[in-house]
Amino acid sequence: MSTPNVEKHEFQAEIKQLLDIVIHSLYTEKEIFVRELISNGSDALEKLRHLKITEKEIFDSDLDLEIKISSDDTANTITIQDFGIGMTKDELVKSLGTIAHSGSKQFLEALKEGGEKNDNLIGQFGVGFYSAFMVADEVKVYSRFWKEDEPGHVWTSSGAGSYEVEEVEGQRRGTKIVISLKEDSKDFAKESTIKEIIKRYSSFVQFPIKLNGEKTNTIDALWLRSKSEITDEEYTEFYKFQANAWDEPRYRLHFSADAPLAINALLFVPNENPERAGLGRIDPAVALYCRKVLIDSKPDELLPEWMRFAKGVVDSEDLPLNISRETMQDRSLIQKLGRVITKRFLKFLGEEAKKRPDQYQEFFDKFGFFLKEGVAIDMTYKEELSKLLYFESSAQEKGKKTSLADYVSRMKEEQKEIYYITGQNRESIESGPYLEGFKARGLEVLFLYEPVDEYVMSNLREYDEKTLVSADQGDIKLDETPQSSDEKSLSEDESKGLCEWLKETIGERVKEVKVSDRLVDSPAMALSPDAMSSQMRRMMRQMGQDSAMPTEVLFEINPRHALMINLYKQRESNADLAKLIALQAFDNSMIAAGLLEDPKDMVTRMYEILSQASES
Ligand code: ADP
Ligand code: MG
Repeated sequence: MSTPNVEKHEFQAEIKQLLDIVIHSLYTEKEIFVRELISNGSDALEKLRHLKITEKEIFDSDLDLEIKISSDDTANTITIQDFGIGMTKDELVKSLGTIAHSGSKQFLEALKEGGEKNDNLIGQFGVGFYSAFMVADEVKVYSRFWKEDEPGHVWTSSGAGSYEVEEVEGQRRGTKIVISLKEDSKDFAKESTIKEIIKRYSSFVQFPIKLNGEKTNTIDALWLRSKSEITDEEYTEFYKFQANAWDEPRYRLHFSADAPLAINALLFVPNENPERAGLGRIDPAVALYCRKVLIDSKPDELLPEWMRFAKGVVDSEDLPLNISRETMQDRSLIQKLGRVITKRFLKFLGEEAKKRPDQYQEFFDKFGFFLKEGVAIDMTYKEELSKLLYFESSAQEKGKKTSLADYVSRMKEEQKEIYYITGQNRESIESGPYLEGFKARGLEVLFLYEPVDEYVMSNLREYDEKTLVSADQGDIKLDETPQSSDEKSLSEDESKGLCEWLKETIGERVKEVKVSDRLVDSPAMALSPDAMSSQMRRMMRQMGQDSAMPTEVLFEINPRHALMINLYKQRESNADLAKLIALQAFDNSMIAAGLLEDPKDMVTRMYEILSQASES
């Protein structure tokens, strides 16, 4: 039957297996075949471009380096043609009939391990050329090698075990792939469908892609151009396209590196933070490219999770195009790439904070949460991130923030720790009892208002070798403050007696009552016995689980405060009222500490105190 020129070949066993899976699995993203074929065309063009540098004799050398796609919805075909290097007959047989390239090999290896979950695998491995069989009844590959004296050939297969190769006349240089679409894939013969797909995956392919004669990829690979040639407008346009955004970018970082990996990256920080606007968690959006060919538009293992606010493109020549997250080697390559980019980005933010502090403050107000999240959950960048954090503090006016480094630079010589207080807002911290001891000694305290701050501090633990200490912790030792001798105060013995009586009166709600060295204006305060418990307690509360944890509190009193001095006498003169007052003072301190769970008793008691006071 067959004409003498036609050679029939069997696919290699592995390819048969691969084709069987590609054709029969219910793979949803069939459209990626367009990307795969365009990327092969782009590779072939790239190779020709290189050849042209050294070779004089190239067949059809006047052809433009471009990819031509034509769709025909009457014939139900799609044709993808490139004027690249083309393939000889041997190459057609070898490249398209045997498992020559790494992507398919890895795919098959994963298949052996993966067993049932085969459909998923296709999405993770570009199966390259064979993806055409997801949509094709028949694939014809016309190819003509770049050397003058090589004839053209056509490779034909329906993907069912074998293929044929035949010499053809009149073939131009490069490769033309004609796909006869399956009944259920006819949609790919529509120009509008293909246009969409090209936009989605191949906008930045370096060579022109013409669809039915019209150039579709108008935006070039901006990130590969030199910075000095790119205008602000171009950057902004690119950001809008890439991030699908309407706003202007707040920051942009365009850089390239050669070692340890070849990288061209263009990153943006948007103007607005959509998570803050309550739009839900955003997906990672720094796309991964390899030589202008999109590998993954939302790679979730490239950058750390907390960097999800960044937009842009990372392009690395060192990545295999069919990179796979399944193999350890590729995975660690992606992670290595991610680390280089993350470090560079953090360095950039640090420079911005110094160069344009006001602008950085604005950024930090909107996006600081992500950096804090990074410190709280990601050990890798803790150090770098901690330098980018800013907080309000007792030494700065309201609204102004300070870095930890600046705090340290203001520390007194004998000060060894960095102090902070968490609270709803500045007012509630300033009116509470915790600040006064620090204020009296001229010690600066950071003010923390966000729930995430607690996690930041507990994960960070120290900065510049100085321990971070919460001001409501019971075990802080502060230096003596000079007391004026004429100040009225309970004596040591009297104080001791009052403390014992208070412990007895308050009962098991309090762990210990003692004289405070921190209070100045307030009569008393509640403290957690140690750092761990105060942090734990606040974290549990943030998770809505505070009642699950019994709170151990210390109650510290101010022996110079009139309330305590009076209470000392009242214990004997009016025992009933003294008891009410003691309990009330304790509850008040619990409120200030944010620890009072049920105010019911307190309200009743308060009325009791009021009515007794109104009698006299
Ligand atoms: P990969 O691109 O990862 O190597 P593919 O399955 O996409 O895997 O392609 C297999 C091989 O076929 C390529 O490596 C290349 O040698 C050859 N090939 C495919 N398409 C073309 C083309 N348009 N021009 C020249 N060679 C091609
Ligand atoms: Mg390929």
